Amino acid sequence: MKITNWGKYPEIEANEVLYRNVQSLNNVLTEKQTWIPRAMGRCYGDSALGKNVISSLNLNRMLDFDNEKGILTCEAGVTFEDILKVFVPKGWFPPVTPGTKFVSMGGAIASDVHGKNHHKEGSISNHIIAFELLTPKGEVLKCSQIENQEIFRATFGGMGLTGLILSLTLKLKKIESSYIKTTVIKTKNLAETFEVLDAFEPATYTVSWTDCLQKGKSLGRSHVMKGEHVALSEIPDGVSPQNALFVPNKLTLSVPFDFPAFALNPLSVQSFNFLYYNRQLGKKKEKLTDYDSFFYPLDAIYHWNRIYGKRGFTQYQFVIPKENGLEGMREVIERIATRKMGSFLVVLKSFGEQEGGYLSFPQKGYTLAMDFAIDSRIFGFLDELDKVVLSYGGKVYLTKDVRLSKEVFEKMYPEARTFLEIKNRLDPEHLLSSFQSQRIGLSKNNEK
Ligand SMILES: Cc1cc2nc3c(=O)[nH]c(=O)nc-3n(C[C@H](O)[C@H](O)[C@H](O)COP(=O)(O)OP(=O)(O)OC[C@H]3O[C@@H](n4cnc5c(N)ncnc54)[C@H](O)[C@@H]3O)c2cc1C
Repeated sequence: MKITNWGKYPEIEANEVLYRNVQSLNNVLTEKQTWIPRAMGRCYGDSALGKNVISSLNLNRMLDFDNEKGILTCEAGVTFEDILKVFVPKGWFPPVTPGTKFVSMGGAIASDVHGKNHHKEGSISNHIIAFELLTPKGEVLKCSQIENQEIFRATFGGMGLTGLILSLTLKLKKIESSYIKTTVIKTKNLAETFEVLDAFEPATYTVSWTDCLQKGKSLGRSHVMKGEHVALSEIPDGVSPQNALFVPNKLTLSVPFDFPAFALNPLSVQSFNFLYYNRQLGKKKEKLTDYDSFFYPLDAIYHWNRIYGKRGFTQYQFVIPKENGLEGMREVIERIATRKMGSFLVVLKSFGEQEGGYLSFPQKGYTLAMDFAIDSRIFGFLDELDKVVLSYGGKVYLTKDVRLSKEVFEKMYPEARTFLEIKNRLDPEHLLSSFQSQRIGLSKNNEK
């Protein structure tokens, strides 16, 4: 069957096997074919694409919950959406969440995902207590800080290359209502954007939407936002305390088909950015919103990836260490604006300290994520941006990547060598393999 991830590029022919039990993988395992785990396909590029993909989507059960401590054990195909539906009404929330709720917990661990609270609460690996992993040898390993520690660490950010996570235990976060109190400050340029982001550091959640098409004195102008969960005592008048923990049920729109290529051009992106920037008139705006609107605004439009047309798109997300943050971001944004390659969704966030896995993406600093339609110029341009990011000591996020070279990857991820040693012990026949891992040298090209 043909499959593709969120960027709709590349589209490949693969054999997709739904995991039910170890026996259901018999052909793949006994014939020693190469395989890679796959779940919701929300990674943008080719990390969940391979000759055989083992889908975790049948692993969708909640297994155990300690309502006193908020400790949940569930199967790895359970999504953030599933967790929100069941546990928000009980007063519990995911400790870290990416910008879409249509992501599985297995996929979240494999990418060691971060949210708007990374500067305060780290990535998902900081909240995972244990998981069970099916290795390429067909064994099931229990992994935690105490058991199989090395494999536990390697699996965070390991892009599925240590095996298939079957189930996991994580600690949820206590909340009193479904509301988020938000403050948005409109900034004039990048220096002010950084000032406000830094001033917002004490807040639990912070994020910024940046207009990457502006140059000169408006370069980096943004809407910088902070948010906090709202206590029961602060819920809006007229909402009864019994209804404070609701699951928003909104009308969702859908993009019905791939847009034609001409729909997306520098002018349409510029117009969108202009309107978005100016939709807030004053400098500061405060409001209460539900968690869906705050964390998952894009989920309101199903298949929004179709606006990039048939050729698809890629997201370039990188991080630059704190000390070089402003200078590095300025250089990248200047290059984008000069080439008129800006995109709609440019998100700037700050990261705190990170331990995580050997291939985890976050590091203390600032991260920027932007989408680009696939066309003849884009890969050359992103190679150029890689050089800039590297020169400031930064790196690119693997879960969004579809084109990084082995040489650049190794420079950006110095702990890749340690990761590979662990993978080679776990997978001596090099069976765990994705298009991405072959490209960046994390698996041998031994396709069977
Ligand atoms: C709109 C949007 C917003 C996003 N926002 C953020 C964000 O704010 N922060 C962030 O960090 N990420 C973000 N992401 C990226 C997303 O969180 C990750 O790509 C995540 O890994 C996708 O999970 P998935 O279930 O779709 O997995 P897939 O895309 O199917 O797979 C992703 C990777 O996980 C591996 N994998 C999947 N399931 C398992 C398993 N059971 N065991 C082992 N490995 C497995 C795959 O092999 C692959 O390498 C966003 C993506 C989208 C589309």
